[in-house]
Amino acid sequence: GYKWGMAIDLNACIGCAACTVACQAENNIPVVGKEEVARGRSMHWIRVDRYQAGARTLFQPVPCMHCEHAPCEEVCPVGATMHDSEGLNVQVYNRCIGTRFCSNNCPYKVRRFNFLQYSNQNVESLKGQQNPEVTVRRRGVMEKCSYCLQRITRARIEAEKAGRRIRDGEMVTACQAVCPTRAIRFGDLNDPAADVVAAKAAPLGYDLLAELNTRPRTSYVTRVLNPDPELE
Ligand code: SF4
Repeated sequence: GYKWGMAIDLNACIGCAACTVACQAENNIPVVGKEEVARGRSMHWIRVDRYQAGARTLFQPVPCMHCEHAPCEEVCPVGATMHDSEGLNVQVYNRCIGTRFCSNNCPYKVRRFNFLQYSNQNVESLKGQQNPEVTVRRRGVMEKCSYCLQRITRARIEAEKAGRRIRDGEMVTACQAVCPTRAIRFGDLNDPAADVVAAKAAPLGYDLLAELNTRPRTSYVTRVLNPDPELE
């Protein structure tokens, strides 16, 4: 099988946020207004954090880490978030009852609650309601980065039709596809020749909050610690 993973090169990232926009378009993520954003309801599955280091601004794109030991999975009362056989942390929308426990327990804060979307259970519960609008607002579905599971599925179908495996570089996530600096690498960690494997082997790479032992499948590459001579 495949073992999917991602490596993001922080030296290459220029903070353009094209990845965020591409993700919203690919995954049909509702674009909410300023008021909703102010209430913490911004909808994005990959964000670009910004840090100031002296005169230099650093950017860190943060999608789901697809943790091997995922803290979100332990707290879901209905098993709506779980691992698939290829190591993806998947969200089963029609099981989600909207407790948001997973989001609260995610150390990376990458899960987003979609108030506008409802699961099968939610739709069922709307039947016979006098004022379904109220219920719609109170319920919703937790959403998250899926490493573009739908694109993986499409690549898998094409490969299987041709009697082969998905080739390295063939399956690219939406964020990866648009990144102008190739900061994002994605692929099969079981393939020793994969670009993502080479990226992860680079010195000075790290996992976000590694001390929590979440074992993230998304990791970061910092090939040059300080490329700006002014900061030396
Ligand atoms: Fe960084 Fe690439 Fe995302 Fe732009 S598209 S913010 S360069 S990772």
